[in-house]
Amino acid sequence: MENLGNKLAEYLNSKNLTEDYRRLLNGALKDPDVQRFLKDNSNSINPDAISTSAASIYEFYNNKNHASELSRGYYPKLIVNNHNIEVAYYPNEKTQNREKRSQYETGFVLMDMPSDIRQAKLDDYSGNGRQEALGQALDFIDNYLNQKGFVPGLYLAGDFGVGKTYLLGAIANELFKSDVHTTMMHFPTFAVEMKNSIGSNSVLDKVNKIKGAEILMLDDIGADSMSSWIRDEVLGVILQYRMQENLPTFFSSNFSMKELEKHLAINQRGEEEPVKAKRIMERVKYLSREVIVSGPNRRFEK
Ligand code: ADP
Ligand code: MG
Repeated sequence: MENLGNKLAEYLNSKNLTEDYRRLLNGALKDPDVQRFLKDNSNSINPDAISTSAASIYEFYNNKNHASELSRGYYPKLIVNNHNIEVAYYPNEKTQNREKRSQYETGFVLMDMPSDIRQAKLDDYSGNGRQEALGQALDFIDNYLNQKGFVPGLYLAGDFGVGKTYLLGAIANELFKSDVHTTMMHFPTFAVEMKNSIGSNSVLDKVNKIKGAEILMLDDIGADSMSSWIRDEVLGVILQYRMQENLPTFFSSNFSMKELEKHLAINQRGEEEPVKAKRIMERVKYLSREVIVSGPNRRFEK
């Protein structure tokens, strides 16, 4: 915390900032939501990426107080991604209701996913490093629609920004044309929601609903450290059921399967549980085939 706090203070005093930006940022840092976030997450934030983190804090604060075109209908939240601070946008109640309605129109359920994923198309998916993943995606769709027994999903592994989430969305859209319904969710956010509702019936309800989805896509698995409970009682239960019922399941991750196994072997308290991690990975490997996606970081192209 010391480290991050000092870095932020140092950054605020650095000469490269304009007076306006310094003043606004100073205000943002005093915001109670920002302070709470920094307090809770300081250990997982890279203090060297301070200008990026400061820009995110500023963006969050600005959108929280004046909804912009970008954030209207959504509320901003600070998150840690790859040890950097980022702003994520979650649908507010009004948007959620609208999205629920439009799910019937578009037929695919997005949980905590950016809604522009609905526009993702396989036709737009091209470029170096992506051909293998595209080929496998087309094969999956072809095999699944022609009912060739159990067809495993894909495990898309690759760096941040190469288009893994986009490809999942494009596959879901393509399947929907043939009336196949997909549930796609941002796994780290789902895990937080589950943790917040421990002990209530809604955990069981949600797990039951999700585990039986016709096609399930778990986006960004491994992006956060996972508690043993989430790993074994939530993820494990979902995957076990899907394996028994032969239901295709997709994953995206910044980790390869091998790296994910290592990640899952250490719980939030830092204890090693290699056997439990192996058990999860056996299910992941049964349900999906690993494809490495590479190429340029698309997030900087816009
Ligand atoms: P990842 O999930 O691998 O981190 P994303 O799927 O979020 O990456 O892609 C990063 C950005 O690039 C997103 O804004 C996404 O909408 C955009 N993007 C990725 N692939 C394409 C594509 N083929 N056409 C248009 N935009 C794309
Ligand atoms: Mg992604």
